[in-house]
Amino acid sequence: MRMLLANAEAWPGFDTTVEHLKNDGPAIDAMVSGIARVEREAKVRSVGYGGWPNMLGEMEFDAGVMDGTTREVGAVGAVPATLPVSALAHEVMKHLPHVMLTGAGARRFATERGFAVDEVLHPDSKRVWWERLQKEMSPQQRAAFPDIPLAPLSNTITDPERVRDTTVFLGVDAGDHIGVVTSTSGWAWKYPGRLGDSPIPGAGFYADSRYGAAACTHTGEMTMRCSTSRSIVLAMRLGYTLEDAIKFAVEELAELKTGFLAGVVIHALDAQGNHQVVNYRCDEEIRYWYWDERMAAPELRVAAAIGT
Ligand code: ASP
Repeated sequence: MRMLLANAEAWPGFDTTVEHLKNDGPAIDAMVSGIARVEREAKVRSVGYGGWPNMLGEMEFDAGVMDGTTREVGAVGAVPATLPVSALAHEVMKHLPHVMLTGAGARRFATERGFAVDEVLHPDSKRVWWERLQKEMSPQQRAAFPDIPLAPLSNTITDPERVRDTTVFLGVDAGDHIGVVTSTSGWAWKYPGRLGDSPIPGAGFYADSRYGAAACTHTGEMTMRCSTSRSIVLAMRLGYTLEDAIKFAVEELAELKTGFLAGVVIHALDAQGNHQVVNYRCDEEIRYWYWDERMAAPELRVAAAIGT
């Protein structure tokens, strides 16, 4: 059964992907074309052009693509000056023997594949970044910026509250192929070079057409430690229901007692046509988009909250 599950940030591209799936498009191609619209939408303040820069005021994008039938993966991390990076991750999957490229190498590959060098820092993001940074720095730090140690500032200025979602698309096409695609600008004011979970297969995303798929948003620093997306799909392989597989992954997250701890949102579906979105310890209400071929139109629904 054709299905599409995505987080609330997906609104600019959700219908595009649904249309591709209705026209029997392959799941990954359908989702990459939808996410490209999310990445270019300035009103989405956590992904692509509308996202937030790192501590130096530079945009660094992360994205991942996984085909659940072949289990091929393409991912890019900390990529400058490039939109849409989800399409670049797809290019990595199709044209390189590698799974992941980062930074300058990813940008070099983007040029080889015909991606323009884009202006990606939204003027409002630049303004807010600079205002916030000014407030946190001493006069000495301000005078010497950016040639100062950034780590002492990192704990105070890094702002997971401003993140409010990566975009994640999980889809099933007419051939029952399951795939997942992610894209994000990561945490606001992150340390330069920081990768979140969105480009890390197994952490921010995983798909296996035999069992299902999972993708996470919010605190990548937790899902990377627990391989949350892979855990869910592996649990289904071991016979867990979708619901129990998610419960198991949440238990693993709940066992973390040190390090940076905050909320995580898990999006998952199984090969039988079930889906679930769980908000683990995020204070705000979390919504998500859902469509399957029995429905006349996509619906924005509320995720089940646990652990709050
Ligand atoms: N998970 C993303 C990251 O850690 C951020 C988010 O989804 O809010 O970069």
